[in-house]
Amino acid sequence: MIVLTDIEIAQSCEMKPIWEIADTAGIPEEYVEYYGKYKAKLNLDILKKEDRDNRLILVTAMTPTPAGEGKTTTTIGLADGLRRLGKSANVALREPSLGPVFGIKGGAAGGGWAQVVPMEDINLHFTGDMHAIGAANNLLSALIDNHIYHGNSLNIDPRRITWKRCVDMNDRQLRFVTDGLGGRVNGVPREDGYDITVASEVMAILCLAESIRDLKDRLSRIIIGYTFDEKPVTVGDLKAQGAMTALLKDAIKPNLVQTLEGTPAFVHGGPFANIAHGCNSVLATKVARKLSEYTITEAGFGADLGAEKFLDIKCRYADIKPDAVVIVATIRALKMHGGVDKKNLAPENLEALEKGLPNLLRHVDNIKNVYKLPSVVAINRFPTDTEAEIDMVIRRCKELGVNTVLSNVWADGGVGGVDLADEVIRLCDEESNEDFSYLYDLDEPVEKKIRAICKRVYRASHVAFTKNAEKEIQRLTSMGYGGLPICIAKTQYSFSDEAHLIGAPEGFVIHVQNVRLSAGAGFIVALTGAIMTMPGLPKSPAAERIDVNDDGVISGLF
Ligand code: ADP
Ligand code: MG
Repeated sequence: MIVLTDIEIAQSCEMKPIWEIADTAGIPEEYVEYYGKYKAKLNLDILKKEDRDNRLILVTAMTPTPAGEGKTTTTIGLADGLRRLGKSANVALREPSLGPVFGIKGGAAGGGWAQVVPMEDINLHFTGDMHAIGAANNLLSALIDNHIYHGNSLNIDPRRITWKRCVDMNDRQLRFVTDGLGGRVNGVPREDGYDITVASEVMAILCLAESIRDLKDRLSRIIIGYTFDEKPVTVGDLKAQGAMTALLKDAIKPNLVQTLEGTPAFVHGGPFANIAHGCNSVLATKVARKLSEYTITEAGFGADLGAEKFLDIKCRYADIKPDAVVIVATIRALKMHGGVDKKNLAPENLEALEKGLPNLLRHVDNIKNVYKLPSVVAINRFPTDTEAEIDMVIRRCKELGVNTVLSNVWADGGVGGVDLADEVIRLCDEESNEDFSYLYDLDEPVEKKIRAICKRVYRASHVAFTKNAEKEIQRLTSMGYGGLPICIAKTQYSFSDEAHLIGAPEGFVIHVQNVRLSAGAGFIVALTGAIMTMPGLPKSPAAERIDVNDDGVISGLF
């Protein structure tokens, strides 16, 4: 059997012109802004037109392997499956960043027969949102340094500028830079640095903003650093919010593309899932929900990070909640949590599978009993999975009372997602999300909110704050920011803050090293370890295998 690569499958697909997809989605032509033949943006006025709010399904996962467990793939296949059952459905996904595209993980347009297309465009420049975000971020950097150069009337301490420049590339060389060199006419020398664009607060803001006005207000609240006498300096102080918003006025509009099966797909915004909340834009989710009976969306990493932030940050700000949650599990990840080395996940290993189950069960328990949401586990079937392995996991899950369905969307597209779709419909029809509540109230003290997440979701026995973290929490609280939600930056490979603690660890301590304010996005980031905001490329980056032939056809993207 010849197995086609993701890009070969994507290129074999006969795409429909985007106006046809808009028509399928029920979008009147007047709201469609065309970006070529297969991409469009949607005018935000569409939100005023429709007042339906349809069903929202969150796709999350067990604690992943570095390759990812197939949330995006499942999201797409589930929507295609729902459409096969005659339901109207669409997806709301994040936009990929060039960092992973050229690095290890690859793009983020799904996989196998469950992809969004045009895959090359989505993974590369798409509709230019990422560049617009980078430009807005870097305009602010230029304005900060220009302000200092021209006399620094705001009294900004160049050693306390927290705003960084950004570029959408994994480029470790730029993590720490010294700039403004070359004497008086060439700026004021200072230590500076770059983040990858998806880690910029501008990205997080774009993804939480509900309108142009909200975008501008949030941008103006960004704190870029502190004065010599320790006062915060905001974008508003620099009068930069108007020009930044001008750069973002189209980027804020949701992008419309299609799945391989012609399902409407809103692919918009892609904040980091550690120092930010890791979900596609609120606007795309809201637009999508107005249009189809079912909107399927995804949140980054495992459910401890992705679902928690989706629920406690995004849903809270957007005043939405999911009707059901799909928790993606794989035989590979279960084996890894059962102690098998990452390089050795293919061979059958029933013993490791059984040992890995507690990881999945903890995520299921969180969704079901902590958040009180209807849920189903989707076993995302890989070609290496054996019948015995699949049978065992499904049998054990059933014995333990875990609602589980096998999903074959990677191999079979929507047809492979019909069972999952059936179950999701049942969850929406027969079970209720009425008892859902956020994990913490915003008016609780910052430490208490952090403890709630660490103890109730991660199941830590204790939370340790460094002196610095305690001091910073006090300072932020006295500045009036204590009422913001919490965004925990933690390794995605463990419930704990140590990547090697696989499975469902117990008795561990979460160490809050420091906290950081994203005043514009509107959350407090609790850092539980060294979090990389500018990744590097691996020794053998994917970029080395990407090419274009004489006809302009790209190969090697995945
Ligand atoms: P996530 O969104 O959870 O990070 P993705 O859906 O992006 O995961 O999938 C990660 C990678 O794994 C992609 O390259 C995808 O093609 C591949 N993949 C996903 N599901 C399967 C599967 N069932 N069999 C083989 N490969 C898969
Ligand atoms: Mg994904």
